[in-house]
Amino acid sequence: MSLLFNTYKRFPFEIIHGEGVHLTDNHGKRYLDLTSGIGVCNLGYNLETLNQAVAQQLHRLWHASNLYHSSLQEQVAAKLVQGKDQLVFFCNSGTEANEAAIKLARKYTGKQKLMAFHQSFHGRTLGALSITGNEAIKSGLGALLNDVDFIHYNEISALSSITSDYAAVFVEIIQGEGGVTVADSEWLIALEKQCQTQGVLLIVDEVQTGMGRTGKLFAHQHYGIQPDIITLAKGLANGLPCGAVIGKKQLGQAFQPGSHGSTFGGNPIAMVAANQVLNHITPLLLEEVQAKGEWMLKKLAKKLTALSVVKRISGKGLMIGIQLTDCIPVADVLDKLHKQGILALSARGNTLRLLPPLIISKEALDKAITHIHQILSAY
Ligand SMILES: *Cc1c(COP(=O)(O)O)cnc(C)c1O
Repeated sequence: MSLLFNTYKRFPFEIIHGEGVHLTDNHGKRYLDLTSGIGVCNLGYNLETLNQAVAQQLHRLWHASNLYHSSLQEQVAAKLVQGKDQLVFFCNSGTEANEAAIKLARKYTGKQKLMAFHQSFHGRTLGALSITGNEAIKSGLGALLNDVDFIHYNEISALSSITSDYAAVFVEIIQGEGGVTVADSEWLIALEKQCQTQGVLLIVDEVQTGMGRTGKLFAHQHYGIQPDIITLAKGLANGLPCGAVIGKKQLGQAFQPGSHGSTFGGNPIAMVAANQVLNHITPLLLEEVQAKGEWMLKKLAKKLTALSVVKRISGKGLMIGIQLTDCIPVADVLDKLHKQGILALSARGNTLRLLPPLIISKEALDKAITHIHQILSAY
């Protein structure tokens, strides 16, 4: 009998070791990983440079609180803002980053109302949940935040609902949990323009799409837009808990000592890991992610679109969704992939979701495509 609250439907095996893009379970079975621990271990497992940096910090200092100057936080912040006029707040997770963004937006604008999108996901704490467009995970909890409205994603005509009454709009560049739906370029640019003309802050949730996942450090960089606030977590420290809010410098006036805080935020061990992660996300790595992603999407389209069970193939970089018709539950496909030694994910809308480590080889991706094709074409 498990002593854990039953909040997760867990597979009955345990991952006990990782190396590169491979994971091993407690039965000694080896898997090719297409999950990155849900978009977290973007650089794969057991990377020596990361291990060493973390081990060193582990023997130096675990925690000292945010009462003192932190050169580690400053270093990571410098790598995140890349010379732009921005400020950073560190926390421990995606939902915390979005909570901080809600507070910052409300304080800075003096307005309450927030706009978000249907099928969005921004986290599980009550504030982040309030801006999440998924009724199923919000029910039974009593009152959430007031003053949150939802409009349809990728719908130009819906943008006129964003009026100057709103403090901010929260958007994902690719709705990950929502089924790997990629923002249309024209729509996203129109969204930025609408926010600017109405004096509404544009907050881009890059918790899943950030840290190189789509072939840019941040996915919004594909579109040439400039969000007022960016939220980050998942891949930021390759598996150590770490989140961040990046905001335009002028927003800084709204956050003064006492406005917001976190005991663990910016923890030295997480910061050392994040620092190393940012060293590894080079222009070359990002180019390779783009190339591998384009190649993979093309190959999947070629092999899978003819199959009647495949509804849609979507994605950018190494964030890929294969939406299946309802006659084949994605959970069954995951079980079959496990038997073939491949770990993958699901998302809303019966979607098979692939988030492989960014360091995966074309050969490994090719192997994965072969297995996915084999399993789907057997239906
Ligand atoms: C995972 C995710 C979150 C929540 O992150 P946690 O670290 O689980 O709190 C928020 N937004 C997006 C887009 C995510 O994918």
